[in-house]
Amino acid sequence: MIIEIPKVSAEGAQYTGEENPSILGLEDNQLVRVEGPIRYDFFVQIVSQELIVQGSLNVKLQVRCSKCAEFFSTTLADLSFLRAYEITGSTSSVDVTGDIREELLLDVPSFPVCSDACKGLCPQCGKNLNEGKCGCRPPSGNDGWSALDSLKLS
Ligand SMILES: [Zn+2]
Ligand SMILES: [Zn+2]
Repeated sequence: MIIEIPKVSAEGAQYTGEENPSILGLEDNQLVRVEGPIRYDFFVQIVSQELIVQGSLNVKLQVRCSKCAEFFSTTLADLSFLRAYEITGSTSSVDVTGDIREELLLDVPSFPVCSDACKGLCPQCGKNLNEGKCGCRPPSGNDGWSALDSLKLS
């Protein structure tokens, strides 16, 4: 997204639109799929020698649950985008694309979970426990303790 300085009025202006999600560079990401354009809703203003851009961003994603490994839809919303760009008399435009990218990538959850109730995968057979129980016996508490004990002894 490029803001042309001569077009920004003294009172400021609302910039609403869409940005191609390819700017996020997530095409090869195994954990995240982008589902639509990046939408921005910015208020742009020149205050003394700075271009102030503030507003919100959102993009629809499919992310892979860190517990059950299934993809689920979510919207990444950032309501607090705020950047200031120094401008001089010779600045004709400011490119905000890199900062949009940075802001949204910071908001991608590292350990997304599809639901608070997600049961995850069986640690023994790998079955998705949201789809039903597997035949494995749950590990007993005693095994956990004895493993700890042997650690202490060694
Ligand atoms: Zn899950
Ligand atoms: Zn199992």
